[in-house]
Amino acid sequence: MAYQSTNPYTGKTDRSFPEIGDAELEAKLQAAQACYLNDWRKRSMAERQAVLARAAGLMREQAQELGALATAEMGKLIAQSVGEVKLCAAILDYYAQNAESFLAPERLSTARGAAMIESSPVGVLFGVQPWNFPYYQVARFAAPNLMAGNTVLLKHASIVPQCALAFERVLREAGAPDGAFTNLFLSKDQVARVIDDPRVRGVALTGSEGAGAVVAGRAGGQLKKSTLELGGSDALIVLDDADLDKAVKQAVTGRMGNAGQACTASKRIIVVEALADRFLEKFQAALQTFTPGDPMDPQTTLAPLSSAEALKKLAEQVDEALAHGARAVLGGKPVEGQAGSFMQPTILVDVRQDNPVYHQEFFGPVALFFRVPDEAAAIALANDSPFGLGGSVFTQDIARGRRVASQIDTGMVFINSAAVSLPDLPFGGVKNSGYGRELAAAGIQEFVNRKLVLVL
Ligand code: NDP
Repeated sequence: MAYQSTNPYTGKTDRSFPEIGDAELEAKLQAAQACYLNDWRKRSMAERQAVLARAAGLMREQAQELGALATAEMGKLIAQSVGEVKLCAAILDYYAQNAESFLAPERLSTARGAAMIESSPVGVLFGVQPWNFPYYQVARFAAPNLMAGNTVLLKHASIVPQCALAFERVLREAGAPDGAFTNLFLSKDQVARVIDDPRVRGVALTGSEGAGAVVAGRAGGQLKKSTLELGGSDALIVLDDADLDKAVKQAVTGRMGNAGQACTASKRIIVVEALADRFLEKFQAALQTFTPGDPMDPQTTLAPLSSAEALKKLAEQVDEALAHGARAVLGGKPVEGQAGSFMQPTILVDVRQDNPVYHQEFFGPVALFFRVPDEAAAIALANDSPFGLGGSVFTQDIARGRRVASQIDTGMVFINSAAVSLPDLPFGGVKNSGYGRELAAAGIQEFVNRKLVLVL
């Protein structure tokens, strides 16, 4: 069966779910459309706000239980799972509280009469979401769009079906009407049909470039707007005047959080020559302390990857890097003698431009380490990537940090920090990392009709 919860620590499949039948899919599409037309878009902001605020409260109350489900399905450390659930509650609250002002009618000063921009919903939206943050990815798509008056269909990754159901249940318990938020266990063919369906007015995907190209291509063929949040290979640049210990600490967090399976993880560590040896020594020492174990045990520091397939893919990528001249100064292999899909924390050096992995994203605890002569070389290397999601710059001179940030071709740059995601910070990238923004005010503007109303 396509939708399965397989615990990546124990390898045991807990539950399986069949794909939805075509008749049921049609009924759910009808319900989403009817809910949009007859109910949800007509509700006041206060009514929608009440539902989202209740959902946020439920997520906080059920944080342990929901967190345990994410850990069981995709393996992340329990503390990180619970943290993710609380972040979702914050996102729901944020849009509940701010949507009205974000979407308030806007007066335009014009010589041609009284003009106004009014923001109205566009209809049923379809989100295709990944497993790596199984609640957060859904929350940042669903919360703004529900507050805008759109209704939402979800196709979640096939390895986190119970998280998908849990998110839907929370919204129902919070009072969302039938059709406001609908989980669908879809086949790939059905994904295409949902995108084509005239009732569906927009599509968002977070995931790989391949999936993004398929889904956005389909949406484009139907003249429908899409947003894409794809992969990244974010650079973490350490300049000669950086606080070394802080940079190492953030590089560790940036690379190892979520077992390295984050789009904005610090995947390429770029350190100027003056600090390179000392940085590498400390970074290596810190990564060595990560020990694999049961992700439900709060003492565990290294989580398994999301699936046996994810581990196989990552290990093969490392092998390919090594076969083409890279060296592992730490790790380089799956963890042996241990149940679960664990990859050793790994640092690769000497990954040169002609290495086939040079432009690839490493979705796991594998850092590519580069030493560069100076700031200009660091910027050039950071930009030598097909991706453009985020990045970090470490320097004690903030003006210098800002100057460097301006030259980095990504959607986000963090000075003296690894990437962070908060409800009020816009999130998204450029180049092959996708287009559009989620979160903050920008996130609610993607799927609304900013309609001009002009009185002459
Ligand atoms: P995918 O991009 O394959 O999956 C993301 C979502 O897209 C899932 O819901 C998946 O469904 C769906 N999907 C995949 N292919 C299609 C398709 N042809 N048509 C419709 N829907 C599709 O990610 P993976 O889990 O396979 O991970 C592969 C790589 O993607 C990672 O190694 C990483 O590089 C990148 N990635 C990036 C993420 C990010 O946060 N930016 C998140 C996850 C992955 P299903 O599960 O049923 O295949």
